[in-house]
Amino acid sequence: SQKFKDGLAKTRDSFVGKMEDLLYRSKGIDEDFYEELEEILISSDIGVATVMDIIDEVRTEVKENRIKDAKELQPIIIEKMKEILGKQEDIAINFQENDLTVIVIVGVNGVGKTTTIGKLAHKFKQQDLKVVLAAGDTFRAAAIDQLKVWSQRTGVDVIAQQEGSDPAAVMYDAIHAAKARKADVLICDTAGRLHNKTNLMNELNKVYRVIGKEIPGAPHEVLLVLDATTGQNAMQQAKTFGESAGVTGIVLTKLDGTAKGGIVIAIGKELKIPVKLVGLGEKAEDLQEFNQDTFIEALFS
Ligand code: GDP
Repeated sequence: SQKFKDGLAKTRDSFVGKMEDLLYRSKGIDEDFYEELEEILISSDIGVATVMDIIDEVRTEVKENRIKDAKELQPIIIEKMKEILGKQEDIAINFQENDLTVIVIVGVNGVGKTTTIGKLAHKFKQQDLKVVLAAGDTFRAAAIDQLKVWSQRTGVDVIAQQEGSDPAAVMYDAIHAAKARKADVLICDTAGRLHNKTNLMNELNKVYRVIGKEIPGAPHEVLLVLDATTGQNAMQQAKTFGESAGVTGIVLTKLDGTAKGGIVIAIGKELKIPVKLVGLGEKAEDLQEFNQDTFIEALFS
């Protein structure tokens, strides 16, 4: 889609620009060529293993079809990327028919958690769903205030207590309010300070327990928000949260702010947690469902 194309402008300019330049200026397909291609692919952050797979496949094609002109390789590289990256399943949000769907948002401070909650609220509202927000990051007054701003901006209710209150108590309140208001979706913010991993995980687990006690089977989604511009840091956070926070999907934000958009592929592939949504800007509508084919299409077309 056009949105994807615009949002990926930096990645396109850097990665695709460099690759096209290589394909058009190469005299022949030799070891130097493969080395340069490898470097370019690696610089996009799609992951070393994936890069090696792509290079191997390209080598085989060149041999089998006796390709001499590098320009002919572009469609082959795109095709191989699509094949190797594969289709990504399970990107749909796990909605409950005729019941309250509870989505918990986790992630480290600054990655774009609050903004993502605002964007999700906007998206669901556009689908005629009734949304309630829970201000579960009670550690930062600013987080509560910011969530209130987004609730006003998107026209959805927010349930909040004062700074320092028990996040589990906020969740309890929010669930009852959401039920009483016959809401379709409850989106829960959580604390994101990672200075003490054990505390954070304990707090999250307590929040999950309260939610699960009020609504068996909930939370229905735990979405981990990661900042694409932080590259390997994002990968590390994904591992930490993925192991102990029961993450069901990833939201990768700020994809518009990086030339290394390939990280979206590496995360999905290496962690086996589906990237469900991507952030492509700061506005309410700058959230897109992630689709590998559309992503690659947007990069190269
Ligand atoms: P939180 O601390 O995780 O809640 O982070 P915020 O939601 O406050 O976001 C931190 C900053 O990142 C804010 O300035 C947001 O406007 C910005 N931001 C969030 N998502 C995106 C995105 O997808 N693209 C861009 N360019 N900026 C974003």
